[in-house]
Amino acid sequence: MKVPLLDLGAQHEPLRKEILAAMEHVIDKNSYILGEEVKVLEESVSTYCQARYGIGVSSGTDALLVSLMALDIGSGDEVITTPLSFFATAGCITRLGAKPVFVDVDPVTLNLDPKKITAVITEKTRAIIPVHLYGQCADMDPILSIAADHKLAVVEDAAQAIGVEYRDGRRVGSMGSLGCLSFFPSKNLGAFGDGGMVVTNDEGLADRVRLLRTQGGRPKYYHKAVGGNFRLDTLQASVLNVKLPYLDGWTSMRQQNAMRYEKLFEASGLSEKIGLRLPKAIYRDSNVAHYHIYNQFIIRVSKRDELRAYLKENEIGSEIYYPVPLHLQDCYRALGYHQGDLPEVENACQENLGLPIYPELGQDQLEFVVKTIQEFYN
Ligand SMILES: *Cc1c(COP(=O)(O)O)cnc(C)c1O
Repeated sequence: MKVPLLDLGAQHEPLRKEILAAMEHVIDKNSYILGEEVKVLEESVSTYCQARYGIGVSSGTDALLVSLMALDIGSGDEVITTPLSFFATAGCITRLGAKPVFVDVDPVTLNLDPKKITAVITEKTRAIIPVHLYGQCADMDPILSIAADHKLAVVEDAAQAIGVEYRDGRRVGSMGSLGCLSFFPSKNLGAFGDGGMVVTNDEGLADRVRLLRTQGGRPKYYHKAVGGNFRLDTLQASVLNVKLPYLDGWTSMRQQNAMRYEKLFEASGLSEKIGLRLPKAIYRDSNVAHYHIYNQFIIRVSKRDELRAYLKENEIGSEIYYPVPLHLQDCYRALGYHQGDLPEVENACQENLGLPIYPELGQDQLEFVVKTIQEFYN
């Protein structure tokens, strides 16, 4: 039985006609740049995120970059973030000439540990970037309160977490100064290529992002600021407009798959036998629907790489998110971090393994994954 890590075909096939019609509409109008579809998407996604403003941009990476630009972060500044994320989180800080400062993760959620933030704040610190990793909210209340105490901006990297709710139902992207979404095809709401959005409740920042998105020109060819080409394509927006109404349904299917995995793994006895750890949905009992949206389902195991090879032999897809913590990347050697500096993330990078969790997976496929993992440890 084949179990791919992700099967976008299964998601798109039932929507094929609807999506093609939406794309055709754009083609008929020849409105490819910041067309009506982009505005419609900005409206519906910002509302979905409980934010007043949404600015469609070219990718999740550019959402982060333009957010930091809107905050005027640059040379001499420091930005605190997590060492366990996709590279773009830290890369955007460096690209603007600022310095990423890494704080270790909470060993249970693998999100930024708020208890470790205050110790690294200096007079150069300008912002904190929490990442809502794998589709679960970072512990925002202490992060927001530290930021307020030290007058720091908070840029939420919500690339893996659209619609995710915190304890009391506040949605990611709406709590910090700015929130960054990605529509990369493998995210829970994926386009047919690259795309992203910045959401915010701050009118001034929204205006700044919108200005920077089109080279900083306003009116066109008269430049108030140095921006870039950070636009979301109308064609991508047209695809996303079709897909957004299905997102909640997909999320509950992912949650259901996670609970099926939990049952199957419990019955397997692997926790006792080899210390296998399942992802912990810490807000599941908080009476919120989107307590976790499982962009990834991450288990932690010993002999991870051997297990991964065995799964591959059995045609089961898996992925390591991520193999190298950001503070130990080659390109960051000059920052002076060493092995052992941030032990929780370093352990996580040895043990984490993402299993297939996409909405359309069948119970038989989930059973096959767990059975194969059991077989390996036997
Ligand atoms: C995917 C991702 C990004 C970057 O998004 P792109 O659209 O691929 O540029 C940034 N941060 C995190 C945590 C991501 O998962």
